[in-house]
Amino acid sequence: MKGVTVITHPLVQHNLTRLRDKRTAPQEFRRVLSEVAALMLYEATRSFAVRPVPVQTPLAPARGFQLQHEVVLVPILRAGLGMLDSLLQLLPHARVGFIGLKREEKSLRALFYHKSLPRDLTKFEVILIDPMLATGGSAAMALEGLAGLGARQVRLLSIVAAPEGVAHLAAVVPDAVIFTAALDRALNDRKYILPGLGDFGDRLFGT
Ligand code: URA
Repeated sequence: MKGVTVITHPLVQHNLTRLRDKRTAPQEFRRVLSEVAALMLYEATRSFAVRPVPVQTPLAPARGFQLQHEVVLVPILRAGLGMLDSLLQLLPHARVGFIGLKREEKSLRALFYHKSLPRDLTKFEVILIDPMLATGGSAAMALEGLAGLGARQVRLLSIVAAPEGVAHLAAVVPDAVIFTAALDRALNDRKYILPGLGDFGDRLFGT
């Protein structure tokens, strides 16, 4: 895999601690999550290609820059939705795709139940949103699906990652780049991240 960036910025770590705290209720969880998501996007887009463009200020011509490629944000349903609005505030021109995955009861394999994406992703910067990188099964399937549509070097945004998930992605989708606020200890026997922050969907939606 191309790499894992743990975002150690103090504001990210301060807000991650609020997300981990079991006393943080959904309303506050959603607000803090938006802040973390925006800060993570700042880091994840740092290497986006730009092209120079001329711009006229009220006083003089200047050299400006434009993003070279269109951006597609792809939340994995449903947890990824919690970060989408905040990312769209910073990238209002981005397109949005959706990937829905569920676990097949017998084999425990992840299966697509929903996919809506631009047909050809070769010309896009693609950001996949999967807040909890646990086993890496869903993220790997999503990344393989995106690669099948031509996406190169997808950036994955995960609030918390487990070493097991990172190792899985490194083995099956070596081109992916992970941005996370924390690389935690391990998974428990129910595949939850330790110490993690609990069930992300439940914390987000209060279910
Ligand atoms: N999904 C969650 O919501 N939490 C975890 O800890 C792992 C996967």
